[in-house]
Amino acid sequence: MGAKRDMSSKKKERIEIPDELADRVLFYSDRTCCVCREKNRPIQIHHIDDDPSNNSFINLAVLCFDCHHKTQITGGFDRKLNARQVTMFRDEWLTIVSKRWGMNYQPSRKFASPQSAIEVEVATTVAEIYREREEYILLAIHYITIGNDELRDKYIELVIQRGIDDETLIAFRKAQGHLDLVPSEIKERYIKELKGNAQWIDLGQFYHDLGEDGLAVKFMCYDIIEKIDSGNIYSAALVFKEMVKLQLLESLLFAALTEARVNNNLWKQLRILLELNQHSEAIKFLLKHKEEIESSHNVLLSYFLTTVLGDERRKVEARKNLARAFREVQIIGNNTVMKDGKIVEIEKGSFFNL
Ligand SMILES: [Zn+2]
Repeated sequence: MGAKRDMSSKKKERIEIPDELADRVLFYSDRTCCVCREKNRPIQIHHIDDDPSNNSFINLAVLCFDCHHKTQITGGFDRKLNARQVTMFRDEWLTIVSKRWGMNYQPSRKFASPQSAIEVEVATTVAEIYREREEYILLAIHYITIGNDELRDKYIELVIQRGIDDETLIAFRKAQGHLDLVPSEIKERYIKELKGNAQWIDLGQFYHDLGEDGLAVKFMCYDIIEKIDSGNIYSAALVFKEMVKLQLLESLLFAALTEARVNNNLWKQLRILLELNQHSEAIKFLLKHKEEIESSHNVLLSYFLTTVLGDERRKVEARKNLARAFREVQIIGNNTVMKDGKIVEIEKGSFFNL
């Protein structure tokens, strides 16, 4: 079995994890071991596939020393904690941490590489069959599925040289993470075709892949409207769910934040930060623009600023100014109203609905 040797991991040299990547890994894990999840234990970053040169985000997991030890010792036929289990613990933990911060973590995961001897044998046999039949498109898909990037790229280049349709080319380039290599005339032709066939979800997904989330939302909403109009509520809900999964809401808010920065609209920037649950960023933002806010005479911004500065006297003053500006009862946030010029209960994260 010559191919089996290719699949097994050779001893590779350790490559230092770049600081920026290490920060990101620690941040998303809340500096906590993803297996036992006990706070304040000494931790380290573990290479899930045991290859210390493979520093990709999906290959890294934060473990305490005890849990790391379990990945090294064998009990019975297998390790006490194998790569598959670590990946599951890690993905679940990152999801929990991100939910806590009001973010949506999506593991940008590849399909699992074959692990057991039987899986490796099946993968090898399948590849041999395709190669014999010169089914290179299937072969490329096969290597995408089992996560062999080198052979994936080799067969993708081969099938592209032989000529393939737009959709397959785009799917392959996407799998490589290189949609930028698709010529713009092909992109435009593909978009035109999807529009012609009213394939709104595919069109939305494609715009998302191209980083144009505004258009992604637009066309996915077309699809939802069609489904609701034809009474297909369940399918409409699934498309909606897909939009949530793609984090299109967050993406639009970030786009709006950029726009508000360009226009130097402080109030809008603050609101968007609060909508994104970025409370610590919101505080930093208020402090950074302290002087600008103080000289702007904007009663709302001034009020928020005083809550951050912690100066009780100025806070009362700012409240009075708010009361003077708004006399009637208004709903100004979640569980927050202004009655007779007094603010009742401003909770963390609430904002003024203006
Ligand atoms: Zn642990």
